[in-house]
Amino acid sequence: MAEVVLTADRTLMSTYHNNEFLGFGTCAPPNFIPEWLYSYLFFPRVKSKRGHPQEAPYGLRKTEAQLLNDGFHVETVSPNHLGKYLKDAKILGVHTMDPFGLGPASTTLAALFKKEPYLAKHFHALLTSPQVKKAKKNGLKVFVGGPGAWQFRYREKDVEDLGIDCIVEGEAENVIGKIFKSAINGEDIPRHYEIGVDAAPNIDQIPDIVQPSINGLVEIGRGCCRGCQFCNVTLRPLRWYPLEKIDRELEVNVKSGRRNTVLHAEDVMLYGSKNTVPDEEKLVKLHQLVTKKCNGLAWSHCSLAAIASKPQLLPKLSELILQNQSWWGAEIGIETGSPEVAKKIMPAKAHPFSADEWHDVVVQAMGIAHDNMLAPACTLIVGLPEETEADILKTMDLIDDLKDMRSLIVPLFFVPLGTLKNKDWFNDTKLNELHKKLLIQCAKRDFRWVDNLIDLSWSEHWYQGISKEFYKGFSAIAKYRVNKIH
Ligand code: SF4
Repeated sequence: MAEVVLTADRTLMSTYHNNEFLGFGTCAPPNFIPEWLYSYLFFPRVKSKRGHPQEAPYGLRKTEAQLLNDGFHVETVSPNHLGKYLKDAKILGVHTMDPFGLGPASTTLAALFKKEPYLAKHFHALLTSPQVKKAKKNGLKVFVGGPGAWQFRYREKDVEDLGIDCIVEGEAENVIGKIFKSAINGEDIPRHYEIGVDAAPNIDQIPDIVQPSINGLVEIGRGCCRGCQFCNVTLRPLRWYPLEKIDRELEVNVKSGRRNTVLHAEDVMLYGSKNTVPDEEKLVKLHQLVTKKCNGLAWSHCSLAAIASKPQLLPKLSELILQNQSWWGAEIGIETGSPEVAKKIMPAKAHPFSADEWHDVVVQAMGIAHDNMLAPACTLIVGLPEETEADILKTMDLIDDLKDMRSLIVPLFFVPLGTLKNKDWFNDTKLNELHKKLLIQCAKRDFRWVDNLIDLSWSEHWYQGISKEFYKGFSAIAKYRVNKIH
């Protein structure tokens, strides 16, 4: 039996029916759809064999690989099979993304629906399960980490109540083995262990995953050079994985029968680049490799400025990608339509263009994406510090100019992160009339594209028609409710 057990709550241990967009459904609170049906539609349980999930979140797989390298006996276990694995375990490591629903998408939905989102509910349920409680009484130490680790600083009482021993924040490859060893040896460990950028691993220190990741996700690089003030990632150094490393991780997933992949980086368009202009050769080679090996791909994130800086490049990539699929998705930050706000809080987001040109950069890049079947899920930030009514009107103008471009545009309440972490949270009580109009404007344009995206996503197999009708039904009810508010 393993001395270290790794897991994540149910909302993270899901393939989201192979559609990353559906993962956003975990940010919603319980609603008009019965809970069992909603969970099945948006975050069905990942299949497991003797309690071991066939796929697990990529971050958990990285930790697993690192701990194996460090000589630990470690097993990754589905949250509903923890009981027997915790009997002999000394440490339970829990991967988190948005454990208390404080992320931008969940705070926005929680404020509008006045309820706790599913992802927070399932995180709480995991740590308060009888199996974990019993193991805690027998000396189990509980560690949490992952992209959601920052949230525990806002919830000290929950940390205490949930019996969490240590929160590991940052890129942990170089330190996780040492901390776990100290804990197993009964030494004192700090409640919060923050790993600074100087301790971030270089590429050679980052292990390859050894077991399949959810939806075949593989990282192609870490860090970002754009320096947006509201973002935690911006503080991390930029590193790109060589093709051979990416190939090895793709192979792990392909061997397990997972032939789709999500390429993960803060800006996939900048793969291999040392600045804000795409490196055409490296990007094409990456996509040649991936499209040869996999039947389908998505990008986790990319930037509009990079698309607009080389307008002939996306069509080339699209030609490769569309050999295997009819469209692909990526998350993209628009954040604002106001050049004044852009200049203040994200001056390099438009680079190599100037922040003054932000509106035109967005419109041009979104047009290129539309023509080449890249369907982005875009974010806007509502309630940025010092935002004026004139800024909101400029954002509304931009959204209007994007109405014919296939995409979802999701307005999210400002969350104080990055260098803005000391600013005030935005919440529903601060919504003014223009904010409300912006929210409705986005909802209406999105409903126009949701059915189109559902048709594209479920067009490949006839038997997917039934579930397609469920999602369309859900979309129709949501549309009806928004129209009633208006
Ligand atoms: S471009 Fe994205 S990842 Fe980079 S700093 Fe800005 S918000 Fe963060």
